[in-house]
Amino acid sequence: MALKALDIYKLLPKKNCKECGVPTCLTFAMKLASGKADIDLCPYLDENAKAVLGASTRPPIRLVKVGVGERSFRVGDEFVFYRHEKTFYHQPGILFRVSDTWDEQTIAGVVHEVRDYKLTRVGQDLVLDGVAIANDSNDPAAFGRAVSVVEANGHLPEVLIAEDPAALEAGLVHCGTFRPLLDGATTANAPAVLALAKKHGAPLVVRAPDADGLVALVQQCTAAGVQDLVLDLDPPSPAEFVRRSSAVRQLAIARAVPELGYPVYYDCSKAGELAPSALALGILKFGSVLVVGPLSRPETVAALTLRQNIYTDPQKPIQMTPGLYRVGNPGPEAPVLMTVNFSLTFFTLQGYLESTRIPCYMLIVDTEGQSVLTAVAAGKLSETVVADAVKKFELESTVSHRTLIIPGYAAPLSGAIEDATRWKVMVGPRDAADIGEFLETQWKG
Ligand code: SF4
Repeated sequence: MALKALDIYKLLPKKNCKECGVPTCLTFAMKLASGKADIDLCPYLDENAKAVLGASTRPPIRLVKVGVGERSFRVGDEFVFYRHEKTFYHQPGILFRVSDTWDEQTIAGVVHEVRDYKLTRVGQDLVLDGVAIANDSNDPAAFGRAVSVVEANGHLPEVLIAEDPAALEAGLVHCGTFRPLLDGATTANAPAVLALAKKHGAPLVVRAPDADGLVALVQQCTAAGVQDLVLDLDPPSPAEFVRRSSAVRQLAIARAVPELGYPVYYDCSKAGELAPSALALGILKFGSVLVVGPLSRPETVAALTLRQNIYTDPQKPIQMTPGLYRVGNPGPEAPVLMTVNFSLTFFTLQGYLESTRIPCYMLIVDTEGQSVLTAVAAGKLSETVVADAVKKFELESTVSHRTLIIPGYAAPLSGAIEDATRWKVMVGPRDAADIGEFLETQWKG
């Protein structure tokens, strides 16, 4: 059972020494309660407090890392059942499945797609996560060859799908130090697969069709010293996946069955032609590692977009990096439009500016992602912020004029911005939809 902040506070040393990085023990207790701090940050905890707090403040779902290096991804470390209770932290990894019965060129083509595809949406780069290699041939040598082709064509996180320990071993020869996820351990093969996971320090999928079977396997794995586990609930259909993963998540979050406190794995390709829908359900309903056959481009865009929406913190506005952005190919005479770094504001204004076909600059200032109206009211948009941005992004050496167009909702700041920047300020429209008409009728350069 998770402890509340005051219960945690009672166990702290109450020295208020700040060594944990926050001003008081009470603040530290609140951070521990919300899962935003680690008990190790306080050097004065006694063994009893460590034992009690360790059990109650660690994430109810274990953090597991797949792969190494830049493209590795982490799953788990989640604290809530519903996103509106807090937020979801670690988005599921999406891996394209290749078969060891395919020819080298086809496998390499899928690896290149995963390696190179990038969807840029609201200022974020969305990518696929890795490649799952399946031992459909039942031949360890063919499996080893397929894994070597994947390795040769891209350094990406991998899932090795084989029930035969000999096949897993043949694959691990090529990627054993890169923390591939092994799929996986069942009651039939657990001792041999566990030994491989331990030898290579690899995370492991454990598969059983019911909670009792999973609990028994997890206990076997942890007793053997393999802690980085991912649960395969072996669902016969996407609907059953939702039912089982929801039940497991509820038990894990409530810490009712600690053995179920691991990320969930779903091989969506088992759903046949329903695989894209299964993938969507996996993203929505608590899947953490999702394997699917290579998707068409529209299906990939849909999956990445859905994942981004679910794993974007609704309490945090998506922000653009402040800077000077070009629309078209502006010269030194082009107008400069200042606005905030709330991404929705940026992309709305950018869209309307592009449709005017008037080349211009967008000066994006840092308001911590707040909209113009909110930033003006909260003091996040001020003459100082604008003046600093004009200087920092070297506007004076970029354009030949000294006129800044500000959003209509920032009109109360126009005089102060003129004084702080020594630039002439024009107040633009409140609605970005009117920017085209404004530039055509008011901008003289
Ligand atoms: S380090 Fe420990 S004793 Fe010091 S303020 Fe933090 S919680 Fe309190």
